Amino acid sequence: MVEEADSNQAELSRVLDTGERTLRRIPPGPEVIRLATEVDLVLFVAPGCPSAMRPLVDRLLPQVEGGPSTPLLVVAGREFMRPWLEVLRRGAEVVFDPYDGDELAARVDRLLELQARLKRLAGQVGELQRLSSTDGLTGVHNHRHFQERLREEFRRAQRYDDPLSLILLDLDHFKQVNDQYGHTIGDGVLREVAAALQRSVRETDLVARYGGEEFAVLLPRTHLTGALTVAERVRRELGLLQVGPDGRLRVTASLGLSSFPHRTVLSPEQLLLTADEALYRAKDDGRDRISLHTQLPLFPPAGSQGE
Ligand code: GH3
Ligand code: MG
Ligand code: MG
Repeated sequence: MVEEADSNQAELSRVLDTGERTLRRIPPGPEVIRLATEVDLVLFVAPGCPSAMRPLVDRLLPQVEGGPSTPLLVVAGREFMRPWLEVLRRGAEVVFDPYDGDELAARVDRLLELQARLKRLAGQVGELQRLSSTDGLTGVHNHRHFQERLREEFRRAQRYDDPLSLILLDLDHFKQVNDQYGHTIGDGVLREVAAALQRSVRETDLVARYGGEEFAVLLPRTHLTGALTVAERVRRELGLLQVGPDGRLRVTASLGLSSFPHRTVLSPEQLLLTADEALYRAKDDGRDRISLHTQLPLFPPAGSQGE
């Protein structure tokens, strides 16, 4: 509660200090802005001339594009109604003095309930966003999200002259795994593979399930040499997997790598296509291997990622 010195403290305490809430009193000042993020509601008690309190209230009014902000309630002098009506229009609750204490308490309750509902909704929207970009079986990103990020990262790489690499991975003879052990075990293997991929990359890299038993790893700010290091780590991790009913099932994969910049990689589609071509070459050459779209330079370019 932010109050002017001459406000009716006894009446406010009677209706608001109910035990269910903690009332904290502070004088108008810049500290209000900081504290507003820590409380459930800010009550301005400003029965006098609005010029002292208005700038503070204005700074805390909800921003159009912002998420749920702390609800505001202003107790304002009736003779200064006009300027406060604008504040009311912009999203704060305003009660004019002399006010009825029980009405004030009811409005506080309503604002708190509304805020709690908004928070729940924001949480649900966040969860839906997460679900809409996640593959239900493996928990890594899905195809749609990968396509979006591929385009985004390609644009960024072009604009900032950064390298960008892509690894496409297809499990070898996976049909046999299903045929031999059944789809449920096959699904479990896909989950293990996704986790192994996630373990092999950095937080800034993106792992996605591209389709059935195909995965994609997008490596921003990474040259082909860095991507090769990651691909080798992936193969190593897959080699360590002990899956299947008796833990004796071995998983291998073929990997195709491509990188931007390259003279034939001028669009996100071409990055994908060239990685796919490399992947098919890895399959043709006998599987369980890595194939590059282009030859590695003899000397890694300056600033290339590798470890
Ligand atoms: P290759 O080495 O040529 O890639 O052989 P492959 O058997 O892996 O290739 P193919 O494309 O012929 O078969 C892919 C198989 O992956 C077919 C399907 O049974 C399996 N698969 C795709 N999606 C899923 C899934 O969600 N769950 C399970 N269990 N299997 C899947
Ligand atoms: Mg396949
Ligand atoms: Mg396959």
